[in-house]
Amino acid sequence: MNKQAKPRLLSGDTSTGRLHLGHYVGSIENRVKMQDEYDCYFLIANIQAMTTRMDRPAEVHENVMEVMLDYLAAGIDPKKSTIFVQSEIPAIAELTVFFSLLVPYPRLMRNPTIKDEIRDKGLGENYSVGFLLYPISQAADILSVRAEVVPVGEDQAPHLELTREVARRFNQAYCGVDSHAEDTQQIALGGLFPVPEIKLGRTRRLVGIGAPDAEGNLQKMSKSLNNAIFLSDDPDTVKKKVMAMYTDPNRLKATDKGTVENNPLWVFHDTFNPDKVWVEEAKERYRVGTIGDVECKRRLIEVLTAVIEPMRLRRLEYAKDLHQLKNILQEGTAKANAAANTTLLLAKEAMRQRYF
Ligand code: ATP
Ligand code: MG
Repeated sequence: MNKQAKPRLLSGDTSTGRLHLGHYVGSIENRVKMQDEYDCYFLIANIQAMTTRMDRPAEVHENVMEVMLDYLAAGIDPKKSTIFVQSEIPAIAELTVFFSLLVPYPRLMRNPTIKDEIRDKGLGENYSVGFLLYPISQAADILSVRAEVVPVGEDQAPHLELTREVARRFNQAYCGVDSHAEDTQQIALGGLFPVPEIKLGRTRRLVGIGAPDAEGNLQKMSKSLNNAIFLSDDPDTVKKKVMAMYTDPNRLKATDKGTVENNPLWVFHDTFNPDKVWVEEAKERYRVGTIGDVECKRRLIEVLTAVIEPMRLRRLEYAKDLHQLKNILQEGTAKANAAANTTLLLAKEAMRQRYF
């Protein structure tokens, strides 16, 4: 199959920090696996990062390079995939403006991920217009390359639903596609945009290593919540984080009965430990109080180190050549610009707003 014939895939990350295990199982792992079958575009969303960090531009800039290093460390291959930076693609900004006309304002405010972020990131009443606009900008990210599939974690599902609505509305309003057309038929019926599919990871929402929130729910692992194990953490850091990890608070000694449910220790074993037999036996012993937290945590440290250490070492290699890193980003950005400019032109033609 030649590269042009492959369906396109887009996913991305905000440059708000380094990538962690939640990103890995939620999205990155799938991206690495899908690189051969799809024409992949991976976007580093620096403008989206600035929606909550407008006062920290240097940090956002630095984190673009950190995310890029994490991509390469995790196995994203720049020879196969296109890595690019959001603010260098003017067509995305233009599409955001046009798409914003297709989205009713109350529809944006009902988005549960936006509500969660306002709460979790402590934005209070101080979020900007640009922050509320970011799901539309994300629709523009995805549709700028006319991606057909988007590998993301569960928190992104409401955003992807909005993107799917924007694609349908655009196709109906400007391309003559019937409002009852099936999603899979939009292109065949003359639509410009495919209605992209979500591809969830094997763990849709990995929890963090911290205690539950006020309502008793474990929070998702997040760069912004200080509860993450990073793909770049060294073995000593992994050990310290696991040893300090939240477990069953009612279990004071190894002979107390323990609860496995809603306990990060067991979420992590379930997600990352390949030895399923040990995990099931150890859970049973944990429930009846015949195995200690420390033994289970030691096992977890080994498991996580085996996942993270090869990535960390690859990262150190790539970090030696920042010039090469910048080249990869620049070449990827040029390729993404070409794709997005073509889309923008077609969109303007469809909207009868191409004048020259
Ligand atoms: P921030 O706290 O700045 O929002 P984040 O940790 O939520 O950062 P994003 O850049 O918003 O990371 O998310 C990038 C991708 O990783 C998205 O596809 C998102 O769904 C996925 N993802 C992030 N955290 C998790 C998690 N804990 N479990 C599964 N997927 C996740
Ligand atoms: Mg997020």
